Amino acid sequence: MSPLPSQRSSRAWVCPIPDEEATAALAKRFAVNLEPPCVIYLRGDLGAGKTLFTRAYVHAKGFKGYVKSPSYGLLETYELTGQTVLHLDLYRIEDPEELQFLAIRDLYRRDSVLMVEWPDRGKGFLPPPDIVLEFGEKDESRFISCHAFSSKGRTLSALIDA
Ligand code: ADP
Ligand code: MG
Repeated sequence: MSPLPSQRSSRAWVCPIPDEEATAALAKRFAVNLEPPCVIYLRGDLGAGKTLFTRAYVHAKGFKGYVKSPSYGLLETYELTGQTVLHLDLYRIEDPEELQFLAIRDLYRRDSVLMVEWPDRGKGFLPPPDIVLEFGEKDESRFISCHAFSSKGRTLSALIDA
């Protein structure tokens, strides 16, 4: 998958994801190191593991309930200790202007962690990313690659790669 157009980034690292436990372990590293506010775009095909990653992140932050895919409701919100996770899934959006009624830029506050599946469909109505995670597959094995788009994103990706 090509990088987001008109944005410069460096690929920070690629993490092999052999199974769901590997997703959970990586999400936990994000949970331990991430300071809000932070915007993470999750890119990759259907079934690539974007929702699984977000679910693992929210659980790693101590949430005990069910974390459902926001594919139908667009947005699920989790009030966690010290941060509010806004989990967006724009798969079903046909026009980015449909996002206007959600006023996502107003919802995005100092304590927010915004995780967006299918961010390319919300172009122009989303805050810019600190990190873009690409969920991919090569030779039948999954990987997640991390691209940083801000100094905050670079710091975070370095902490996780360390
Ligand atoms: P997406 O949100 O990217 O469409 P999901 O996170 O809903 O994809 O994943 C769909 C299914 O694929 C999951 O329910 C899980 O069974 C499987 N899956 C996702 N990531 C992995 C993985 N790293 N290893 C094995 N199976 C996975
Ligand atoms: Mg999903």
